[in-house]
Amino acid sequence: MNSNFILISYIVSAILFILGIKRLGKVNTARQGNFLSAIGMLIAIIATLFKMDAIPLEWVLGGVLLGTIIGAVSAIRVAMTSMPEMVAIFNGFGGGASALVASAELFKYLNGKEIYLAELTKNNSDLTTTMITIVLSVIIGSLTFTGSFIAWGKLQGKISGQPITYPGQNIINLLILLGVVIAAYFFVVNPENMTAFYVILGVGLLLGVLSVIPIGGADMPVVISLLNSYSGIAAAATGFVLGNQALIVSGALVGASGIFLTNIMCKGMNRSLTNVLFSAFGKVDATKTGPQSGEEITIKEMSADNAAYTMQSAESVIIVPGYGMAVAQAQHEVRKLADELEREGVDVKFAVHPVAGRMPGHMNVLLAEANISYDKLFDMDEINDDFPGADVALIIGANDVVNPAARHDESSPIYGMPILNVDYAKTTFVLKRSMNPGFAGISNELFGYENNYMVFGDAKATVSQFVETLKEES
Ligand code: NDP
Repeated sequence: MNSNFILISYIVSAILFILGIKRLGKVNTARQGNFLSAIGMLIAIIATLFKMDAIPLEWVLGGVLLGTIIGAVSAIRVAMTSMPEMVAIFNGFGGGASALVASAELFKYLNGKEIYLAELTKNNSDLTTTMITIVLSVIIGSLTFTGSFIAWGKLQGKISGQPITYPGQNIINLLILLGVVIAAYFFVVNPENMTAFYVILGVGLLLGVLSVIPIGGADMPVVISLLNSYSGIAAAATGFVLGNQALIVSGALVGASGIFLTNIMCKGMNRSLTNVLFSAFGKVDATKTGPQSGEEITIKEMSADNAAYTMQSAESVIIVPGYGMAVAQAQHEVRKLADELEREGVDVKFAVHPVAGRMPGHMNVLLAEANISYDKLFDMDEINDDFPGADVALIIGANDVVNPAARHDESSPIYGMPILNVDYAKTTFVLKRSMNPGFAGISNELFGYENNYMVFGDAKATVSQFVETLKEES
C-alpha cells in the first residue's frame, strides 16, 4: 500500500489518541475519549497490517482474536476495586511485548534477513542509534514485565505487601544498574556480542523485581502508574527500532501521561516520587505506629435509624466516599440517600479526596455511574473550608483520607498527607464493618473523637437502611 497513505493513517490515529486522552480528563467526556482512542488504535493496526504484508494474515487474525477474547473476558469480569491489578498485568505484557519485538528485530538482523535494520545499514544510517534503542527497549520492557507482576502479586496478597529490604539495597541496585550500562556499551559497539545482550535482558528482568520489592503494598498503585509510563517508553523505543511512527507517538503519549498520573498521585499523598520508591514506606514499626485494632480508642456507636434522623434534621450534610463504598458497591444507594435528604430540604455535597479508593478518579467514576450530578462533587481544596459549617460529615468506607493524625502526628506514616477536615463538622458518622484499619494499616483517631459515631455494617446495607428510615418518616 502507498506509504503516504500509511503515514496519513498514523497521523490520524495520533490525533485521535491525543483527543482521546484529553477527553479522558473529565468524567462526562471520558467514555467518548476511550472510544476515540480505541478507533485510533484500530486505524493504526489496520495501517500496520498493510505495511507488514510479509506476515501471514492467519497469524495476525489469530493473534487479534485471541487478544480480543482475553481482553474482553478479563475486562468484563474484573471488579472495579481490582482495576489497579489488571492495569499492572496489562503494563507487564506491554513491556514484555516491546522487549520481545525489539529482540526479534535484532535476531532477524543478525540472521541477515531483509528488515528495517538491514535497510538502515545499507543506507549507511546510524546503526549505533538503533542498537541503543534496542537496548533501551529490552531493559525498560523487561524491567516493566517483572516489576508489574511483582506489583500485581503485592496487591493481590500473593506476595507480602510489606516492603522487603536488606542492608545496602540501594547500593546493590546501583551496582547492577552500572553493570547493565557496561554490558550495553559492549553490545552497542558490537551487536553480535550475544553474551552482552543476554546480560542486558537478564539484568532488566532482575531490576524489575529488585526495584519493586522494597516498596510497600500501599504504594503499589503509584508504582503501577510509573510502570505504565515505562511500558510507554519501551514501546516508543521499539517504535524507533521498527521505524513505526504510530508506535513512537502512542508510546510517548503513554510514557508522558503515566508520569503525570504518578505525579498527581504523589501530590495527593504529599510524598515525593523518591520517597515512594526508596523509603520502604509502610514497613510496620511497632514502636512508631499507633494501635492497630483500635482497642486503645473509646468509640461511640449509633444505630442506622438514629443516624438517619440526625441527618434528616440537619441543614447540611457532606458525604465523604472512600474505598469501602467501592467494595460495597453502595454508590446507587448513596444517590438515593442524597435524593431523600434533598427532598427533606437538606443541602447535600460530596467531598472527593484525590487518593480516596485505589486509583485516581475512583470515586468520581462510581458517583458518575450512579448519576450523581457533577456540580455536587467537590475536590478536597474546594470543600475543606465548608466542614466547620456542616452539621454532618457522613464518611462512607473512607478511613486514611479522613485520619486527623496526618495533620499533627509526626510519627504517623501518613503524616503530611492532606486530608478532608471532616472532624471540623458538628457531627461525623463513620460507616464501616469493623475497627480494621484502611490501606495504610494504621488506626484512625477520628473514631474516638467526641463528635464521632460509628455506624457498623456493610456500607450498602447501612445506606439502604438510611433510605428506608427517611422514606418511612416522610
Ligand atoms: P482506606 O483504605 O483507608 O479505608 C477503607 C475502609 O473501608 C476500611 O477501613 C474498611 O473498613 C472499609 N470497608 C471496606 N469494605 C467495606 C464495606 N463493604 N462496607 C463498609 N466499609 C467497608 O480507604 P480511603 O479511600 O480512605 O483511602 C485510600 C487509601 O488508598 C489511602 O491510604 C491512599 O493513600 C491509598 N492509595 C490510593 C490511591 C489512589 O489513587 N486512590 C493510590 C495509592 C494509594 P472495614 O474493613 O472495617 O469495613
